Amino acid sequence: MLTKTKIYLSSPHMGGTEQNFVNEAFDTNWIAPLGPNVNGFENDIQNYLGNEKHIAVLSSGTASIHMALMLLGVTSGDEVLCQSFTFSASANPIMYQGATPVFIDSESDTWNMSPELLEIAIKDRIEKYKKPKAIIAVHLYGMPYKANEINAIAEKYNIPVIEDSAEAFGSYYLGKPCGALSSMGILSFNGNKIITTSGGGALIVPSEDYKNKAVFLSTQARDDAPHYEHSSVGYNYRMSNIVAGIGRGQMEVLDERVAARRKNFEFYKKNLSQFSNIEFLEEPEGFYSNRWLTCIKTDSYETRELIRLALLEDDIESRPLWKPMHMQPIFEKYLHFTNSTSEDLFNKGLCLPSGSNLSQYDLDRILNIILKIPNL
Ligand SMILES: *Cc1c(COP(=O)(O)O)cnc(C)c1O
Repeated sequence: MLTKTKIYLSSPHMGGTEQNFVNEAFDTNWIAPLGPNVNGFENDIQNYLGNEKHIAVLSSGTASIHMALMLLGVTSGDEVLCQSFTFSASANPIMYQGATPVFIDSESDTWNMSPELLEIAIKDRIEKYKKPKAIIAVHLYGMPYKANEINAIAEKYNIPVIEDSAEAFGSYYLGKPCGALSSMGILSFNGNKIITTSGGGALIVPSEDYKNKAVFLSTQARDDAPHYEHSSVGYNYRMSNIVAGIGRGQMEVLDERVAARRKNFEFYKKNLSQFSNIEFLEEPEGFYSNRWLTCIKTDSYETRELIRLALLEDDIESRPLWKPMHMQPIFEKYLHFTNSTSEDLFNKGLCLPSGSNLSQYDLDRILNIILKIPNL
């Protein structure tokens, strides 16, 4: 009997050489949060993003955002502006610092932070003597945000930008790689991301000094002494040499992974073009998305659910777009500047299976389910 296998939204896809790097770590006994793979992975990422950037690989993307906030001096009582349309990990580190999030809605061209609302929010907060300490902007689903506009506003008011590039490694904005567009950036290598180390992240900073500070804090903040001496609160946030070995292997296939995900997007777009109630997010001129997840926007909640449930019936995983932070029970009480863009996307949008390891057979199976939905 033929049994159908479950199709996941986005599953890990190893390239082949990851195990060599991991085996080497075993052979040389570098089973620790330091070693040649850690340095090698950092060098690989630096080569990809450009030598003016400095990289510290950490235990997760979330830890990397937390570290960026700490390096920027965000502390208890400070306000931090954060894109509302995102995964909660963009905002949670604000809470770790005892700071207060203020959420900013998206614009329809990129689904990312609206530059217009950002400036309105900054002016409002400055008027109330609450000048924001940082801005967290997100390249959601791999689509770059309008970095020139966001950076110009940030510079005008002298507020640093943390670039949440967790979903956008391999994306480009006006020829520059995402992760290297703002004051500080972060990447994620969680199991569902475009490349994965099982779990992990990277902090991208503008100088070696910042990197050294991040590594110091991430390895328990040990002062220079023969015994254990501490004059700051430390964290255990460093990436291990085993995990970094997986990352070195994954770096070899990053470009292939982007190509495969972009191909998924083109397949869905071409084969669903006859439906006037299904829209795709196009790349504005000069934007290059890694198409981490292919997302559609339908005409209603009901249409979205029709598609999601039909796929589920066939053991195919799809998922509504991110629920905006300003609508989340944990965050809804915080100030937000909204325009209904993200709420609308949440109600009508769906992420389709998008792994770089989907076969043509899988894609056809997904498509046929959608084509068979009555009255779509
Ligand atoms: C995955 C993700 C993160 C967090 O990364 P982890 O490595 O899972 O901690 C942060 N922001 C966004 C937008 C993400 O998608």
